[in-house]
Amino acid sequence: MSSIELKNISMTYDKGVKALKNVDLQVNDHEFLVLLGPSGCGKSTLLRIVAGLITETEGDILFDGESMKGKDARERNISMVFQNYALYPHLNVFKNIAFPLGNIKGITKEEIKERVEETARLLDIEEILNRRPRELSGGQKQRVALGRAIVRDPRVFLFDEPLSNLDVKMRGDLRDLIAEIHRNLNTTFIYVTHDQSEAMVLGDRVAVMENGVIKQVGAPQDVYNNPNCVYVAGFVGSPKMNFFASRITKGEGSYSVKIMGNMFDIPVERLPLDTELKDDRVISGIRPEDFKLERPEKPYGSLRATVTKCIPMGSGLHVELSCNDKSFLAVFLNHTDVKVGEEIELFVETDVIHLFDPETEEAICRRIR
Ligand code: ADP
Repeated sequence: MSSIELKNISMTYDKGVKALKNVDLQVNDHEFLVLLGPSGCGKSTLLRIVAGLITETEGDILFDGESMKGKDARERNISMVFQNYALYPHLNVFKNIAFPLGNIKGITKEEIKERVEETARLLDIEEILNRRPRELSGGQKQRVALGRAIVRDPRVFLFDEPLSNLDVKMRGDLRDLIAEIHRNLNTTFIYVTHDQSEAMVLGDRVAVMENGVIKQVGAPQDVYNNPNCVYVAGFVGSPKMNFFASRITKGEGSYSVKIMGNMFDIPVERLPLDTELKDDRVISGIRPEDFKLERPEKPYGSLRATVTKCIPMGSGLHVELSCNDKSFLAVFLNHTDVKVGEEIELFVETDVIHLFDPETEEAICRRIR
């Protein structure tokens, strides 16, 4: 059991690299928090600071309200799982998993055996307890690393891109296993990844990072529905959101946005008529999956576009289109007989059109449904 509070954390490495800038973050007890962002944005640095493996240049970390200043990784009682497994090559699987138990005073051999076997059962690796790491597949190695992390009862689990070295099938299996472990243990998880789909599946909340800064923290669906800036809107969701340089005008009962030459009325509940806009420029954003072939029941706008490319993706069809010399991507989940060269009508519900300030790139309205 542990809540973690990061207060105003900054980190400058020796050569002046500012890896973190004034990061504030509250991780709740038993929460699964994912740190999401591209390579180099500071995720691992933040995780290693929580672990006590490196020391922040500024700020403080509290575990259940208690400052961790000056406490090393062992004193913080955390367990960490790395991308490269970090197993002891000369020890078999049993001894690798048992290793952290050696630090517990008074623990008997029988207790160690019991705990290792119970952990191995949970991870489905009972059959390989006698093998050395070099005799294991990548997925098995990562299961052993998970075993070593959960065999004792840490207050916090930290994961640094644990699935990055695995193939797709193995990644899916282990991702589900990590989610199950979280459900079964009463422990706080912080998990680093650059993979937005992993973040969406695993996280109770996701903190999206860019350049040493947390841009947005929220439940995966909230971040997807209501990204607070262009960066988050582009990073969360796959394929990426389409962005358009657009114009906005105030009409009789609502604002209208002109996207690729077509007018879309934004509901007043989303953008009240007394909203002060700096000028008529706006960045609009539409997710590929929000273009529909059927007329929606909710308020919508429409446009006509020419199909330039069709890419079958198994579960659906990715379609590149062109409208008034602008290109964009649409994804249709149901199979359709859309063909290259054809002009089609597309519908977009006005509630799912995102609008951003072109100067600050911050969102200027929220979804209402
Ligand atoms: P991420 O985990 O998101 O890929 P990191 O936390 O590893 O990002 O790195 C953040 C920034 O800090 C990067 O610019 C990286 O080059 C730099 N950095 C990381 N570790 C060190 C180090 N030991 N010394 C100097 N710079 C570092």
